[in-house]
Amino acid sequence: MSLGTPESRYELVSGLEIHVQLNTNTKIFSADSASFGALPNQHISTVSLALPGALPKLNKEVVAKAVRIGLALNCTVNQLNHFDRKNYFYADLPKGYQITQDNQPICINGFLEVELNDGSKKKIGINRIHLEEDAGKSIHDQDDQYSLVDLNRAGVPLIEIVTEPDIRSAEEASALLSEIRKLVRHLNVSDGNMEEGSLRCDANISIREKGTSSFGTRCEVKNLNSMRNVRRAMEFEFGRQVEVISEGGKIIQSTLNFDADKGTTSPMRTKEEANDYRYFADPDLSPIYISDEWLSEIKAAMPALPNEISTQLIAEFGISKADATLFAEDTDLLHYFNQTLPEVKVKKTLINWLIGPIRAVLSEKGIAIGAYKIKPDQLAKAINLVDDKKLTQQIAIQQLLPAAEESTGVDVAVLAERLNLLISENSNELDGFIDEVLNKYPQQVEAYKKGKKGVLGLFVGDVMKLAKGRADAKKLNELILEKLK
Ligand code: ADP
Ligand code: MG
Repeated sequence: MSLGTPESRYELVSGLEIHVQLNTNTKIFSADSASFGALPNQHISTVSLALPGALPKLNKEVVAKAVRIGLALNCTVNQLNHFDRKNYFYADLPKGYQITQDNQPICINGFLEVELNDGSKKKIGINRIHLEEDAGKSIHDQDDQYSLVDLNRAGVPLIEIVTEPDIRSAEEASALLSEIRKLVRHLNVSDGNMEEGSLRCDANISIREKGTSSFGTRCEVKNLNSMRNVRRAMEFEFGRQVEVISEGGKIIQSTLNFDADKGTTSPMRTKEEANDYRYFADPDLSPIYISDEWLSEIKAAMPALPNEISTQLIAEFGISKADATLFAEDTDLLHYFNQTLPEVKVKKTLINWLIGPIRAVLSEKGIAIGAYKIKPDQLAKAINLVDDKKLTQQIAIQQLLPAAEESTGVDVAVLAERLNLLISENSNELDGFIDEVLNKYPQQVEAYKKGKKGVLGLFVGDVMKLAKGRADAKKLNELILEKLK
């Protein structure tokens, strides 16, 4: 007899089909704009409308982007692959078929390793990546009598990433999706925006008794458009299937809808009602051939992947893993860093500025680095002044950079001079301040001489105040010690 709740006896098994809208300028088979948000039916040439005789012509950029993501997902690239027609009738599909890939997809047999909350790693297999066109959009709620169709999206390029059924929890599914979103953005393949539908997924879900190795019958939950809904759908479906099976019932293979308001799934169609798509190779398009030369060109143009970048940053600058991840995953920050680095004299200080004070400034303003008014060359100059001991970091952050933000493109070195922010090189002036402070505290000076070294901080602080911060603390310390001898 088994112990524990039914839920604890079963484990979830899931594989995802992830649709990613590519961020090309034009559609996959025509010169129509692929941009989002235009008025309805603005980007519809004869190809998007499927007028008789209109012929598709493949957008080369689509292939390059699919290969980039395939390489990042450790896939084998099928250098010879082709398009198929998937036949079905729907109002938003004027051709009566979708051009997609069936048994010769562009990439196969990859994997992605994701990190889970407890720090452990999980490898999830990628079965294939195929190319396809998106359909148009039917709108049912804007007119009393008619359904409306917007074909702007018809022919927008998509890739579908199909994972192996290696996922065992909603957490793993979320980790995989966020890793993929990160990668597509990093590789400039897609904006990965789930709210606008650039990234959406279907989740295939089954359960099995823990310790067994065969798979149960699966259900496919369609069109999950947020990370949260993926998690909710999985949790609900797991509970539902456990209930059916522990009551002696059977799971019927079916396609389900997810109701985001209720958090529940409901049947769309069962396997018996499933469409027969009558796939066949599209005779209007020649096979895609990716030559060795083209493949190496695409490889050579790939940026380093986030994991490689963070490993390199840790090795080179000795920063923590968390800080390195911050840079590796924020393309804008990394770009800013790379632009600033050549102009900074002491390389290691730059990363500390960006992790520390600059990050604090940005978060106080509530902006990302892309919106920061201080440009890389300006920051580099400020950092160099500090490293040269001509400016204190505090004054740079609190006075110089805010002042520089006021007038675009200003030379910060000139500005520092004009605002009289540079460390006083006039030791007479500092001397004067030191005398003034030591005279002010005769008792403390006595105490210091008797061994109460702690009062030194008081003297330094006061002199610094008189110098309005324009003094190098270390040098000031030395000068005061000299006087106290
Ligand atoms: P089909 O060809 O019928 O669509 P696939 O083998 O292509 O089936 O699988 C589609 C998706 O379903 C893949 O993501 C796969 O990982 C997942 N999958 C397959 N079998 C199961 C199962 N028993 N439980 C959960 N997911 C599964
Ligand atoms: Mg399939």
